[in-house]
Amino acid sequence: MKYIGAHVSAAGGVENAPLNAHEIGADAFALFTKNQRQWISPPLSEESIELFKQRCEEYNFKPENILPHDSYLINLGSPKAEGLEKSRNSFIDELQRCEQLGLKKLNFHSGAHLNEVSVDECISTIATSINMALEKTNGVIAVIENTAGQGSAIGYRFEEIAQIIDQVEDKSRVGVCLDTAHTLAAGYEIRTRETFDETFKKFDEIIGFEYLQGMHINDSKKEVGTRVDRHDSLGKGVMGMDVFSFIMNDSRFDNIPLILETPDESLWVEEIKILRSLQQ
Ligand SMILES: [Zn+2]
Ligand SMILES: [Zn+2]
Repeated sequence: MKYIGAHVSAAGGVENAPLNAHEIGADAFALFTKNQRQWISPPLSEESIELFKQRCEEYNFKPENILPHDSYLINLGSPKAEGLEKSRNSFIDELQRCEQLGLKKLNFHSGAHLNEVSVDECISTIATSINMALEKTNGVIAVIENTAGQGSAIGYRFEEIAQIIDQVEDKSRVGVCLDTAHTLAAGYEIRTRETFDETFKKFDEIIGFEYLQGMHINDSKKEVGTRVDRHDSLGKGVMGMDVFSFIMNDSRFDNIPLILETPDESLWVEEIKILRSLQQ
């Protein structure tokens, strides 16, 4: 079965996210569990946590179909000691929030080398950060999102993600989320049947579908290989609709959250309907 939703607002408290997701006809969703642009946020209150759980149950959102996204400030591969320490602490806090909310996955961008260290060195730092965080928390899977490869961001090539996973000690607690816009911008053609099959064959060989814990379903304003991260609403960018139809009719994408991060929230109801209608 396909579980579709969007990255909804948690303004006013995390307990509002399941309400917002329910309102757009979703059966999956993403959220920030803290302010994504600040290092420190107040802890979740008992009341918020209880309401969040109650509402997820009431509206039938299963923990495995909820994909929280971490703060944009976190760089687990930072070459700067202070930035790295802040990032590691903040990442642990994010994982603990997921635990408190009864969630199973945390989606994050692996990190960036800032042109100060080699890619290999950055990857080792990222893996060490993940190992440290997993040791201090329980049960939540660290879900690496592929990037568009903008700036010095790591994790736009499948090989880089595989290299990180390779160095994670507990393989049962690491996973991958593929963002369609990032995948295209990173240089992977996915818009025709042939190229889609080829790219996902590569993904399976290099990383493995057993690690796929979620998808971000976005159109892209930027062409293949541009390494620029600009999402667009479905059908409005350069992606075309075929790739979404391939995903919706492929059982390898069953039972994971398929999350819209498209820029126009007013279209989410329609976009979810369109995605469902592509299923044959
Ligand atoms: Zn992301
Ligand atoms: Zn994304």
